[in-house]
Amino acid sequence: MALLESSKNESIVYENGILYENEAEAAAENCGLKKPLRKIADKRIFEYKWFNMLTIGSLHVQAIYGAYLAITGHAKWQTLFFAYLLYIVSGLGITAGAHRLWSHRAYKAKWQLKLTLIIFNTIAFQNSLYHWCRDHRVHHKFSDTDADPHNATRGFFFSHCGWLLTKRHPLMITAGKRVDFSDLENDAFVMFQRKHGLWMFALFCFILPTYIPYYFWNETLLNAWLIPTCLRYVAVLNITWCVNSVAHIWGHKPYDKSILASQNVFVSIIALGEGWHNYHHIFPWDYKTAELGNYRLNLTTMFINFMAKIGWAYDLKTVNKETIDTRKKRTGDGTETNIWGWADPDQSKSDRAMAKIIFKNYN
Ligand SMILES: [Zn+2]
Ligand SMILES: [Zn+2]
Repeated sequence: MALLESSKNESIVYENGILYENEAEAAAENCGLKKPLRKIADKRIFEYKWFNMLTIGSLHVQAIYGAYLAITGHAKWQTLFFAYLLYIVSGLGITAGAHRLWSHRAYKAKWQLKLTLIIFNTIAFQNSLYHWCRDHRVHHKFSDTDADPHNATRGFFFSHCGWLLTKRHPLMITAGKRVDFSDLENDAFVMFQRKHGLWMFALFCFILPTYIPYYFWNETLLNAWLIPTCLRYVAVLNITWCVNSVAHIWGHKPYDKSILASQNVFVSIIALGEGWHNYHHIFPWDYKTAELGNYRLNLTTMFINFMAKIGWAYDLKTVNKETIDTRKKRTGDGTETNIWGWADPDQSKSDRAMAKIIFKNYN
């Protein structure tokens, strides 16, 4: 009977695409890995990537000096505004581009939008789109195991940026080879950026953001380098990393309490709507990366909706409320249940029993 039930569950998993609590283990078996992956980090000796440490470290020092200059009024307002604009634009290159379009195929884009997003993404320079999507698909497929590039069970620092400063776990390389990336290999935009990345990143992420303020409003070269380039670049890097670290450590889990990914409002604000991470790991094909009604704090969804209105984005995938509610009831931690008030049929008996009623029978 138990066997029958489990095979029934598996067929549900693959029919409607909802991965269950044993997602990583099932995926591992599916990918032909010999041993099931556990949601813990094995002991390991790290091999450091010294070049990354030096470059990322020195950019952080320069960004901190840039922040000091920005706060203390040493830069022109146009430069500050330009830095903010680049933060939004390069952020969208990651959230609407690398993440929702290319990693998850949550919607489709016409060439005009792909071209826009590839430029936005190049300004953000977080490795090539191809490699970003590869890491991200493996992260979803093997979350919180050693095959996950930024395995959050290894702690905050590793999942934030430590994973970029050390050589990859062998299990991640094995797992990565078994995930399908053929759609990315057949995408001319992705492959163009992969091939010509070096000059594109230099131009869009570093040279133009420095030259534009210097040429158009006579900003000093030092300010132009430190604020819209170093500070903006490092800020967007850290914001993206927060999704892997903060949103895998702190927050509610209304959709599945067995995974580390959590709903984090702070991350949603800074990462243009990418902090609804418990939901996102359960329904990764939803273009909103959040449940209906959570449009606020989700600038990326507004952007994609606008693009759909002008016809550049289409086939926007989302999840119906019934499916979400069923999942919430089955595996959620009970937070974020919408009830209208006392005696709503959805109010749980335990909540009612635990309520403190004062002035009882007062008359
Ligand atoms: Zn994702
Ligand atoms: Zn995640």
